[in-house]
Amino acid sequence: MSDDGWDERPKAQSHKAASALRELGRGANRRFGQNFLTQPAFIERIADLAEITPGAPTLEIGPGLGVLTEALLRRGAALQVVEIDRELAARLQERLPELPLLVADATTLDWAEVCPGEGWTSCANLPYNVATPILAALLDEGARFRRHVLMFQLEVAERLAAKPGDDAYGGLSLLCQAAADVRIVLELPPGAFHPPPKIWSAVVRLDPHPTPRTGGLPMEGFRRAVRAGFSQRRKTLLNALTATYGREQAGVALRATVGERRRAEELDHAEWEALAVALERP
Ligand code: SAM
Repeated sequence: MSDDGWDERPKAQSHKAASALRELGRGANRRFGQNFLTQPAFIERIADLAEITPGAPTLEIGPGLGVLTEALLRRGAALQVVEIDRELAARLQERLPELPLLVADATTLDWAEVCPGEGWTSCANLPYNVATPILAALLDEGARFRRHVLMFQLEVAERLAAKPGDDAYGGLSLLCQAAADVRIVLELPPGAFHPPPKIWSAVVRLDPHPTPRTGGLPMEGFRRAVRAGFSQRRKTLLNALTATYGREQAGVALRATVGERRRAEELDHAEWEALAVALERP
């Protein structure tokens, strides 16, 4: 950022991202979901939301041109970054030679290996095309991550944070909220990025629970029950669950917990925990 405030102007920032790419003789790569943050106010806000303390182990997936990376470094993060785009990775490593940078596909990594130990924070403007599988893998790491501050397309963010009664409430909401406290903390218009995407985006803060909220089941069992319940949305739970658990077992579990006539999207988290336990441990 320059001292004269020129770079604070959104247009100037967008131009900066465009000219950084031009210098590399290329544009944004759509295949890698590249929409670069351009506005300093948003970048600083996202880095603030991570509440990094100096020296805190922090993971950024997809640093791209490095604007969020630099904001995290300014806050003292002990940063590990993972970038799939070799050219952008090389540019970043040239500018920040000390930065631990892994050139890799984040969907294939073993996070226990890349981020060993406790107290991790992740902070990233995720590539939209692979954001959900990356989130699922990070949440599987449990409370080794104290917080995730991640950008999604708004529609996905709404599904992650939805509560019973919301249109967006579904299996993804339940599985995500079994692992973490989930909140939408910032919404961003297309103009906050270069190139601007067609849709709005949102930053979601996820604070993992010390123990997943699965009624004591392994996540695998809770996931199986929730997926079965939401597999046929317009049917009653009894019909939806029958394919996975059989009609008799599904009926017994429903009568013992939430009743036979409910629909998957009517049940709150505690009801889902009780039902999943009854289905998985008959
Ligand atoms: N952090 C930058 C910013 O906010 O301006 C770039 C964000 S851009 C939405 C997504 C970034 O993730 C790009 O740098 C892209 O190359 C990278 N990326 C895409 N797919 C990836 C993958 N599978 N593994 C690691 N990085 C990936």
